[in-house]
Amino acid sequence: MPRKKSSGSAADFFPEKLSLPSLRAAAADCKACDLWKRGTQTVFGEGRRRAVVLFIGEQPGNEEDLSGKPFVGPAGRLFDDALAQAGIDRSQTYVTNVVKHFKWEPRGKRRIHKKPNGQEISACRPWLEAEIALVKPKVIVALGATAAQTLLGPKFRVTKQRGEFIESTLAPYIMATVHPSSILRAPDDETRRLEHRRFVEDLKKLARVLQ
Ligand code: SF4
Repeated sequence: MPRKKSSGSAADFFPEKLSLPSLRAAAADCKACDLWKRGTQTVFGEGRRRAVVLFIGEQPGNEEDLSGKPFVGPAGRLFDDALAQAGIDRSQTYVTNVVKHFKWEPRGKRRIHKKPNGQEISACRPWLEAEIALVKPKVIVALGATAAQTLLGPKFRVTKQRGEFIESTLAPYIMATVHPSSILRAPDDETRRLEHRRFVEDLKKLARVLQ
């Protein structure tokens, strides 16, 4: 079969019938932006089909890129730990990213995360919108500024509005908090502990809404 060409939107790669498995399979061949050349593979969302909560991060990291699964690296482990502390079972959730390929630049032998640009975010957005439409969560949680601003607009500030439940056309509520990787990047242990505690508090607020 000839390779599909893209007009710059992931929608060009959509399967005829929309389901999470068919979208995941189709996304594996997505070339709607240049990030497919840099990442090892597409890292599609994963989780419960009708999850009440859908978490969105920015993009897969190094370990996610290698394993093909979202939120399995150091930030994913911190995320799991915080979810457990808040009494939320990850197996009852759906987790995904705004952008499905790992964008990175070399630093010595390491691959360092590079923020996706607006064109890459908009090219990838149809995958995210399709995931949201199929999962139909009660609450979407944006993890970090990229996810929050993709969903809530460029003026949204996680630092000022984290933990608020905002009505939306995508789901009854969207809440934003920090991305767990930002906690890992805290400058010292005390700040890291404090940020971890604030993250768990945001997730506890979420747990109360989900009851
Ligand atoms: S980042 Fe998204 S739009 Fe770009 S190639 Fe990967 S799956 Fe397609």
